Amino acid sequence: MTDSFALPETNWPTLEPGWVWLCGAGPGDPGLLTLHALNALRQADAVVYDALVQEGILEWAPQAEHIYAGKRGGKPSAKQRDISLHLVELAKNGKRVLRLKGGDPFVFGRGGEEAQTLVQHGIPVRIIPGISAGIGGLAYAGIPVTHRDVNQSVTFVTGHDQSGETPQSLDWKSISKGSQVLVIYMGMKHISQIQSELINAGRPLSEPVAVVTNATTPLQSVIETTLGSVVADIEKSKAEPPAIICIGRSVLMRQVLDWQALANGIEPRNLDPLGRGRPAEAS
Ligand code: SAH
Repeated sequence: MTDSFALPETNWPTLEPGWVWLCGAGPGDPGLLTLHALNALRQADAVVYDALVQEGILEWAPQAEHIYAGKRGGKPSAKQRDISLHLVELAKNGKRVLRLKGGDPFVFGRGGEEAQTLVQHGIPVRIIPGISAGIGGLAYAGIPVTHRDVNQSVTFVTGHDQSGETPQSLDWKSISKGSQVLVIYMGMKHISQIQSELINAGRPLSEPVAVVTNATTPLQSVIETTLGSVVADIEKSKAEPPAIICIGRSVLMRQVLDWQALANGIEPRNLDPLGRGRPAEAS
């Protein structure tokens, strides 16, 4: 660890033996970790991490045992109950345990279940929020999750439930009517069903859609499409999860805010994609 990552002087909490800190690692880019996450990485004896945590982040905890608890990547998948009980066991053995999860631990990440099990077993916990992929990932694609001209609300939706199916409990009609912008996690597997539900509920075929895969990592890629074409375009591009799917007019803002393209000297495609009129005068 170089000095450039020295934490500012303040009273950082100590990760005591027997504690579990349940921490979000952000969507991928290590720069999106919080300072509390960095403080935790430096103190942990054991880091229990998920598939969505970029392995480079673990290099910030060279002193710790790194325990994979993910459900992807060809490695055997760990059951949720086993992960929670493993955390209990590590803590009972006096380890300083850092449970590191992609994005925010309480956003579609089962962090609530894990924390509950820990509390039920009398293990002291601290929760460290992280930047969720549905917000930070879209920002890296140049898509503001809210915009005054587009939406007064945003709905985060999971594309599948515990059984791996599209959640039966979701009322797609109300979701379609109630929210101008939908941000779908884990939506790739059931995208054609989600597409039909939304179209049946009255969302227009021409509605802008972005599919952001591997957001904030060097592999980030973005498909800009429409509700009518999203399934075909995902197939054509052979895009694979993890992906955030954003449905709504805020996707158009990428035409002016694709800041990674701008940084590479590419001109904005449209300075006023929402038709706001002349740029405001600087004052
Ligand atoms: N707790 C996480 C979400 C876990 S659910 C969070 O707050 O971000 C897993 C889903 O998150 C993936 O299927 C995908 O939809 C989304 N996701 C997480 N990281 C992502 C990334 N880097 N790029 C795109 N989608 C991502």
